[in-house]
Amino acid sequence: MKTIGLIGGMSWESTASYYRLINQAVQARLGGLHSAPLILHSVDFAGIEQLQRAGDWDAAGDQLAQAARGLQAAGAEVLLICANTMHKVAPAIASAVDIPLLHVVDATAAAVRRTGARRVGLLGTRFTMEQPFYVERLQQQGLDVLLPDADERALVHRVIYEELCRGRILDDSRDDYRRVMAALVAQGAEGIILGCTEIALLVDATDAAVPLFDTTRLHAQAAVEWALADA
Ligand code: GLU
Repeated sequence: MKTIGLIGGMSWESTASYYRLINQAVQARLGGLHSAPLILHSVDFAGIEQLQRAGDWDAAGDQLAQAARGLQAAGAEVLLICANTMHKVAPAIASAVDIPLLHVVDATAAAVRRTGARRVGLLGTRFTMEQPFYVERLQQQGLDVLLPDADERALVHRVIYEELCRGRILDDSRDDYRRVMAALVAQGAEGIILGCTEIALLVDATDAAVPLFDTTRLHAQAAVEWALADA
């Protein structure tokens, strides 16, 4: 089994999900007392969030690239960025190391395509929903992407930063997300991508009429498949 390197802490609430999901998947595959060899570099999210808000993606990319180099030096053989938004700087991170970076969009798009769905709704931070780095990569893999309207995008974004990343899981916000997802389904979405690693803390399959694609779970599974490919 290969050693997985995690760039986490964005937020730590969802990095905890990655840790649990990766270990559960290894145990399901290997049984017994098996668990995942992994190395975590967990950042202080307050500093990253400030850089995001200021649009200083280069500084954020430099910080995560340094984390990636440290993980490689410590023995990681594959890397995950435990967030969707920070895949905006995935190229800077990937070019800082010699080990592969498993991209969250690739793991997600492959899972969507396996179900036969082609038109998907996307929920995430405003960066993920509105900037090309994420939507274009989904489109390049054959998917049509539907976005919530501007007010709904603001709501989805606010709930992520003000609630989910702080461990606050509120029924009213779940109702709001249900409404946003229903509107995407009414526009023809055959599935909804939970394109932020905290959203599965709030909603599950019972909250929408179409399949939900949880990027945290799909990304974690892709890492385990990679780590166990030769095991
Ligand atoms: N974890 C989130 C994501 O998947 C949001 C926090 C962040 O901006 O990194 O995008």
